[in-house]
Amino acid sequence: MEWNTPEEFQRMILERMGIKGGWTPPIIPHTSEWFEDMMQKSPQTAFQSMQMVELAGTEECCGACGVAADESLDTDDSDWVENWIDTRHNITFRLCNDCKAIQEQMNGYKFEMLTVDHIKGKI
Ligand SMILES: [Zn+2]
Repeated sequence: MEWNTPEEFQRMILERMGIKGGWTPPIIPHTSEWFEDMMQKSPQTAFQSMQMVELAGTEECCGACGVAADESLDTDDSDWVENWIDTRHNITFRLCNDCKAIQEQMNGYKFEMLTVDHIKGKI
């Protein structure tokens, strides 16, 4: 099989490893696509995040506690809201630092900040 892009190369490797369907790009949290996907994976999480978006009045909020994203904060502030990805599970969340730490402890996720390179399949 030939490949011309990093995405094709990644797909080829995954297919050789027997992973069906190959690589799927991670989904940006709190988009309609993300809610649809989360309804399949964890309906409870999808409902909770929907409620938080409604309460906060913006999609730019923590999906677990509803604190709205505030760009005046520092990235290490407990209320800093960011998009996170666990690349092993290809699962994404928009969480504040506190809720991200709780998710990591409770569910064993290992989050990295979601970047354009993740979405393009370069990482
Ligand atoms: Zn939170």
